[in-house]
Amino acid sequence: MHGELPSLQGRMDRLRTRFPELGVDAVLFLDMINIRYLTGFTGSDGALLVGEKEAQLLVDGRYVTQAGGEASGVSLVEYRDKREGIAAAIGDTGSRVAGFEALALNVDAYFWLKNNLREVALKPLSDEINHIRAVKDEGEIASIKAAADVCFHVLSGLTDILKPGIRERDVACELEFRIKRGGADDVAFPVIVASGENSALPHARPGMRKIADGDAVVIDYGAVVNGYHCDETCTFLVGRTDQKQKDVYNLVKKAHDLAFNAVRAGVPCADIDRVVRGYIEESGLGPNFSHGAGHGVGLAVHEAPRIAAKSEGILETGMVITLEPGVYFPGAWGVRIEDTVLVKEKGCEVLTKMPKELTIIQ
Ligand code: ZN
Ligand code: ZN
Repeated sequence: MHGELPSLQGRMDRLRTRFPELGVDAVLFLDMINIRYLTGFTGSDGALLVGEKEAQLLVDGRYVTQAGGEASGVSLVEYRDKREGIAAAIGDTGSRVAGFEALALNVDAYFWLKNNLREVALKPLSDEINHIRAVKDEGEIASIKAAADVCFHVLSGLTDILKPGIRERDVACELEFRIKRGGADDVAFPVIVASGENSALPHARPGMRKIADGDAVVIDYGAVVNGYHCDETCTFLVGRTDQKQKDVYNLVKKAHDLAFNAVRAGVPCADIDRVVRGYIEESGLGPNFSHGAGHGVGLAVHEAPRIAAKSEGILETGMVITLEPGVYFPGAWGVRIEDTVLVKEKGCEVLTKMPKELTIIQ
């Protein structure tokens, strides 16, 4: 995919310009998503060492052909033993301080490398490196939009089967099948279809429960296109619903609208959470909103930036994030409304397309 070459080179260059600030002269990557982001290699095992002038992609024999076809801007190195390969590559670059992804290197491998690279200081990097994928380019945004389009077509064509009597699992299977058949690489994560008391569990697994008259049904789903995810949640009310359900739905919808109106470049991520949480707390349901207000989406379904009370990030043009307020009554029911949005200079654009107005399925 030669169209990707300029942007891949730009990503590697951007990383290198940050070496002084990070206090390193090389960075070791083990997270396969970051490796894909920087090189184009989509395999499931390997390592990438980015030095000041050149980068080495290290793979074992299973991936040599694939990496040769996919990766660009790197020299390809085959290893027999991963740790030894990494140690040799770091030694070759002449690095004195090699940064590494603290979230991706396990303690055992860390100590092995430390003992075998006595001349090199290993420096753990976390937030400063987790952020590299946060701002998306046009190609990335186009892929997320394509994923959102698949989702929209699939779920809007499926609301007719959301009737009392159908099992959660059957709805989930049908969604997953249609998402894949609809042109996506895959589902973004196992689809959540949670009805009745299960809708009170933010990460419910679809089970054998049959959707019943009067249920809230939370459907949290997404698709992957070209490796890029979208993430969307719709809550439907089914059959004879009561006023409280409608009121709570509208409250969550209002919190979602407030978040949407607050998003633009320059706003602290924590402020978005505060807007959402503040509104839900004012109505007395603060304790019923038990998770963060959103997260970045891209090559991973959850990535930087976090949209939560303790986030330190600032929204930038080109970031893609979710807004997902929810209110849950344990043992009874719950509502969540989630869209994936693109941060712009003066606001944001919603990429996921299902309408979020109260929908009662009769
Ligand atoms: Zn979701
Ligand atoms: Zn989400």
